[in-house]
Amino acid sequence: MIGSGYVGLVSGVCLAEYGHDIVCMDKDVAKIEGLRAGKMPIFEPGLEEMVRDNVKAGRLRFSTDMADCVPDCEVVFIGVGTPTNKETGHADLKYVYAVAEEIARHVKDFTVVVTKSTVPVGTGDEVERIIARTNPKADVAVVSNPEFLREGAAIKDFMIPNRIVVGIEDQRARPVMTEVYRPLFINQAPLMITTRRTSELIKYAANAFLAMKITYINEMADLCEAVGANVQEVARGIGLDNRIGTKFLHAGPGYGGSCFPKDTLALVKTAQEYHAPIQLVEATVAVNESRKAKMAHKVIKAAGGTVAGKTIAVLGLTFKPETDDMRDSPAIVIIEELVKAGATIRGYDPEGMENARHVLPLITYCDGPYQAAEGADAVVIVTEWNEFRALDLKRIKVAVKTPLLVDLRNIYRKDEVARHGFRYICVGRPGEE
Ligand code: NAD
Repeated sequence: MIGSGYVGLVSGVCLAEYGHDIVCMDKDVAKIEGLRAGKMPIFEPGLEEMVRDNVKAGRLRFSTDMADCVPDCEVVFIGVGTPTNKETGHADLKYVYAVAEEIARHVKDFTVVVTKSTVPVGTGDEVERIIARTNPKADVAVVSNPEFLREGAAIKDFMIPNRIVVGIEDQRARPVMTEVYRPLFINQAPLMITTRRTSELIKYAANAFLAMKITYINEMADLCEAVGANVQEVARGIGLDNRIGTKFLHAGPGYGGSCFPKDTLALVKTAQEYHAPIQLVEATVAVNESRKAKMAHKVIKAAGGTVAGKTIAVLGLTFKPETDDMRDSPAIVIIEELVKAGATIRGYDPEGMENARHVLPLITYCDGPYQAAEGADAVVIVTEWNEFRALDLKRIKVAVKTPLLVDLRNIYRKDEVARHGFRYICVGRPGEE
């Protein structure tokens, strides 16, 4: 498993749990040394115990050296990052290509090279070309196998996936990939084998659809506010139709994270490049981008039209609960806009503060929600961690300067908040405000 981040490490340990012999490799020496010492580089529920058990059982080890693992492996997964190239909006494939080159130098016998990273259509062809160019003697089959796990539920998602998608051109890879995933069939996970380009596109099409669904309900929330309807009931009313489904219909501050923003953008770029633009996804990207600043303005409006010189407590910094991932979190833009408008921010997140310090250096980090609320003119819930779902509002009321709760995740009801003397602002539920 080349790359031991959210995807590589979780995939590696789960495959080890199913009995395969796995080496998780990463060029980040500190990460590997930490893992060898039992220290997880990311927060993911259940991960630490599973790593410990599989290391103990001798099925999982860690390495910083491809020469030490690639020659002996039947399957080599590429699980490195594919971030947005800030200049072009495309997925930056330099890490994937660098790994492909290095794999080529170290393969010995027939090896299946699997791209698990999210990569644009045609990347598998390029990986194949790079390997052939670097080592013409290399005998490899390059396969696409996108990963669909969600941070925060990554282990369960990997072990009991809705489906496994494998894109194959060289048929020798078929029995190998079937064997890799055989243990998961016991969980009745359908294995879909298709062509490499189709497989690559499935990942983007899935993420863009989900991003579109979130953006749709967010726009519906704005309309609810304008017309006096309740977005949670609209979501339920449409979601109970099986063709629509209830998931991903929670109005909020806009999607973020390490996948949806970059994958929607990369899909837009690919589609434009092939002269087949996908306008729905283009609109999704634009609407979501503007939504984050809009949420900051919602806070400003709730605070009486200005936050200059005011103190705002922000609860939740990561893009969603149960992760420490701060990449493209809506909290970043919301906080930056509030700071620009003159506010002082007191922030708290159960797991994300270490990563948040790098992207949001200017805020005051607090030890808990109650400390964050001290002297605040408004308390804003940005991420719906369980810890914020049943706050002791009496205690918050004593701590704050002004009892104003802006709930960007709709986790409270007006009556319960108002009972404690708070003014309550939420998303798409005008009757609740
Ligand atoms: P990550 O940044 O957490 O991990 C990537 C790792 O690759 C890092 O530890 C880095 O040091 C390592 N790396 C980079 N270059 C290397 C090299 N030359 N040799 C060895 N290691 C190298 O990234 P991630 O979140 O795990 O994402 C990886 C890929 O999986 C991306 O394409 C992403 O879009 C995709 N994906 C992510 C998720 C998710 O929830 N995070 C879900 C599905 C798919």
